[in-house]
Amino acid sequence: MPEGKRGPTEPPSVAAKLAQAQAIVEAQGGRLTTLRREVLRLILAAETPIGAYDLLARLRESHGNAAPPTVYRALDFLLVSGLIHRITRLSAFMACIGHEPGHAAQFLICRDCGEVVEIAAPAVTAALKSAASQRGFTIAGATIEAEGVCAACAARA
Ligand SMILES: [Zn+2]
Ligand SMILES: [Zn+2]
Repeated sequence: MPEGKRGPTEPPSVAAKLAQAQAIVEAQGGRLTTLRREVLRLILAAETPIGAYDLLARLRESHGNAAPPTVYRALDFLLVSGLIHRITRLSAFMACIGHEPGHAAQFLICRDCGEVVEIAAPAVTAALKSAASQRGFTIAGATIEAEGVCAACAARA
């Protein structure tokens, strides 16, 4: 299932995803504190991947005194826990709940509407691994971000 397709309003699945995230974190021996949970909720509720500054602005609506380091620490925790991805091309974050932490990820980024969809293309990962190993290179992580036009925007054009 591609992750990351979200409508403009908060879908009812946000609560379910938060519960799932809580279970994942607890299974890892961690704790989804109120703040971490709120940051994750904001990421889940965002229409498209959201940057740290926008997160901070939205977080301040509920946590008026939230400082940037607080947000960065929460983001680090969520990244390490495997609950979110960082989309480097956009300097933004999106949720990925229920996949193993550190999994190889590919993203399709729409230039027009900004929608980002995570896809699973194991053949891409395998080909990359094989090409790297021919150079004696061991891949620790590989995130592929592809830019283009989504089906909805292509249909509108
Ligand atoms: Zn993922
Ligand atoms: Zn689009």
